[in-house]
Amino acid sequence: MERLPTLEQLIDYLRRLPSVGRKSAERMAYALLKMDTDTLQGFSKAIQDLNEHIHPCPICGNYTEQETCAICADESRNHHTCIVVSSPQAVHAFEELGPEYDGVYHVLGGDLSATAGISIDDLNVHSLITRIENDGIKEIIIATNPTMEGETTALYLAQILKKYPIKISRLAYGLPIGGHIDYADALTLKKALEGRTHI
Ligand SMILES: [Zn+2]
Repeated sequence: MERLPTLEQLIDYLRRLPSVGRKSAERMAYALLKMDTDTLQGFSKAIQDLNEHIHPCPICGNYTEQETCAICADESRNHHTCIVVSSPQAVHAFEELGPEYDGVYHVLGGDLSATAGISIDDLNVHSLITRIENDGIKEIIIATNPTMEGETTALYLAQILKKYPIKISRLAYGLPIGGHIDYADALTLKKALEGRTHI
């Protein structure tokens, strides 16, 4: 079969997506190849727009298309309680709980990982400390993923935050170990939040 470098290039890009192997990438690439020009242009524009329109909120690190995210900008929320998460997807998972949680968030942008070379300087920790010092945060609920990296991150954070006069708690277990917060169902997450333990 004739080699199609343009298609191969697309397959290579698609394979960078999570859970996409060679076979899935090929299927997606051939499906795209069958689409009409308008749809393909729509796809291409949607991808370009990601970078042009979405940026991290300068306060909490959550994704936004505005100057600051809707949660930080919402004055009716409780700005004294802050859930610290690894990723913006985890914010989304907590927001699904609706009125169960009306505090704010801080997105670290990852977990500490020696294997992936992610150190504390790669995470949004300095901005968290600035918020604690200047923005009246009184309680931090650490909700990093229940993985080895997430646990290490939680312990490290608890360590550096303990000199501040704030309440620090960690989500209760019951979350599947090794899983990710953003995959947890609302009930599990609600229970984990209610049963948070002081650390
Ligand atoms: Zn924000």
